[in-house]
Amino acid sequence: MTDSVSEKIQRIKQEIPKTVKLIAITKQVGIKPMREAYAAGVRDFGENRLQEALTKQDQLQDLTDISWHFIGHIQTNKAKKIIENFDWIHSVDRLSLARRLDKLAQDCHLRPQALLQVKILPDPNKYGWEVPELLSALEELNQYQYLKIRGLMTILPLGLSSEETLKAFQETRKLATIIRQKNYSNLSMEQLSMGMSADYLLAIKAEANVIRLGRIIFGPRNI
Ligand SMILES: *Cc1c(COP(=O)(O)O)cnc(C)c1O
Repeated sequence: MTDSVSEKIQRIKQEIPKTVKLIAITKQVGIKPMREAYAAGVRDFGENRLQEALTKQDQLQDLTDISWHFIGHIQTNKAKKIIENFDWIHSVDRLSLARRLDKLAQDCHLRPQALLQVKILPDPNKYGWEVPELLSALEELNQYQYLKIRGLMTILPLGLSSEETLKAFQETRKLATIIRQKNYSNLSMEQLSMGMSADYLLAIKAEANVIRLGRIIFGPRNI
């Protein structure tokens, strides 16, 4: 007998500090388990495909206090729809996108909250800022008045040991500290989004305060 969505969420909540925000990642997950997660107290939902997310948002309109998080790679031509429909964007992975989002936010009178997706270890399969590239972009990112940059997000390459995973999360946390110490007035680094089903406890050990959990709540996906 496997646990229900609600039981899984209760169990995870007992494991993590209250200060850690749990985002239920619901890509490929149907409306019914999403409603179960909501009933279990989840108010943050993350999706990586725009069209799939819009369909579900439409079906969940009655749940008015959800915060929607976009976690997937963003093509520039989808940027407008994304800031119109999401409260948080975890996947700001390049300067041209950040610049575009800030401009669109101004035009649309929106204040989207954003995280900068950092590639803390080399990974040909992942998007994200390389560290030196991010450091040299800070000056410009700090100029943005509309896009609210609130912290960092990272996804680690597959196949790391626990030690390597912890170390990579700690590196990300250190990077956030280094950026914070530069005292840029428009760049807050208080949100650290790291940790998925396989590694969220290590992420929390490295002081993540946002975790993104899919499979451990909803079961396996079709790839
Ligand atoms: C799919 C996904 C997750 C959740 O992964 P699980 O292993 O199912 O917990 C978290 N973050 C991002 C960016 C994802 O694409």
